[in-house]
Amino acid sequence: MLTVLTVAEAKEKILTTASIMQVRGNKIPLIDAVGRVLTRPFIVSDDLPLFNRSTMDGFAVMAKDTFGTTDAMPALLEIAGEVLMGQIPPVPLSPGYALRISTGGMLPDGSDAVVMVEYTELLGNKTVAIHRAVAPGENTIIRGEDMKMGETLLSAGHILRPQDVGALAALGYTEVDVSDKPRVAILSTGDELVMPDQTPKPGQIRDINSYLLAAMVKQAGGTPTLLGIIPDQADELLFALKEARAFDCIILSGGSSAGTRDHTAAAINKLGNPGVLFHGVSMRPGKPLIFGIVDDKPYFGLSGNPTSAMVGFLLFVQPLLLHLAGSREVPNLLQARVDRNLSSASGREDYFRAVLYDRDGELWARPLLGQANLISTVVRGNALLRIPQNSEGIEAGEILEAILI
Ligand code: AMP
Ligand code: MG
Repeated sequence: MLTVLTVAEAKEKILTTASIMQVRGNKIPLIDAVGRVLTRPFIVSDDLPLFNRSTMDGFAVMAKDTFGTTDAMPALLEIAGEVLMGQIPPVPLSPGYALRISTGGMLPDGSDAVVMVEYTELLGNKTVAIHRAVAPGENTIIRGEDMKMGETLLSAGHILRPQDVGALAALGYTEVDVSDKPRVAILSTGDELVMPDQTPKPGQIRDINSYLLAAMVKQAGGTPTLLGIIPDQADELLFALKEARAFDCIILSGGSSAGTRDHTAAAINKLGNPGVLFHGVSMRPGKPLIFGIVDDKPYFGLSGNPTSAMVGFLLFVQPLLLHLAGSREVPNLLQARVDRNLSSASGREDYFRAVLYDRDGELWARPLLGQANLISTVVRGNALLRIPQNSEGIEAGEILEAILI
């Protein structure tokens, strides 16, 4: 008998199980860190910038020397020298003086503002006319304005983006503590499957899911290993699962229903305890979905239909892999207005493949109708639209949750 859970119940069960699993980590070179998960918060180790800087090309001044200045009545200041990039200013600034400065140059002591070169005029080479007043702080960035020593810049569990990598480099880090990538075993089951490099005989099809799921594992921050195609035979499946035990997470596709040729649930139960925790989720596509634990390792049995496998992966496997890597971030969720009516049975969550597009600055979704078992609909689409469990249908114009795919 299937114990069918709602999507929310299934997620909850998976994540409570996953939360007791241990996150392992390592120091790695910063250059390789994008997409990896921080294992400890990142505390700013020094003020940034370390010195007051100009944000414009122009003249470093004392703001009060420019007060009341207009085009008709410019302030005249003596040029005391030039601040060179990467160097300490040659002299401090005294009242009545200005120093030439470039964007990023160090402000001399005494200066609290920079006048843009566009608002200045040279009178000979010793005097500059200032045509605009500047307020204290204008066109400058002061020490610690970007980041202050001691503040938390990134939390543990954060997935590093390119800008985070840049910020770490700014603070002098070339290594960073991240979690290990979960190692994921992928097995396809089905007597009809052949490897993608083979020509299928009549009645056979190429194995899509090994490659599809491996790609999804990579995108979710894991390292996939393909364990191949397993025929629909109980003993062969059990043998393959024993081999897969060494991995952090095991994903099977196919054979997850309750038919006579569906051996996945039985094989997981035979492998060890506690075995299958639930079998079936009230959703479409992807209802025949198995989740089990054996020796503290998570096992997923996804429906063989590639689109169903994809939905099952996004909803359940991806969050678990992120959990194993120590992250709770939920990537790729958006909201979009649907551009046609959709019918849906109450009592299950429906996922429609859709194309997101911009209409007058707003995000809209055009559902792609077509069978769930067509891989082309997920290729042509760029999102999955979620129809909540209790909805009996959606009217054009309603806002739905969309998962980018
Ligand atoms: P199953 O979940 O085993 O009942 O399979 C459901 C459907 O998905 C069947 O039409 C299978 O032929 C197909 N299928 C199963 N596994 C794969 C796979 N790895 N690649 C492509 N199609 C598959
Ligand atoms: Mg099958």
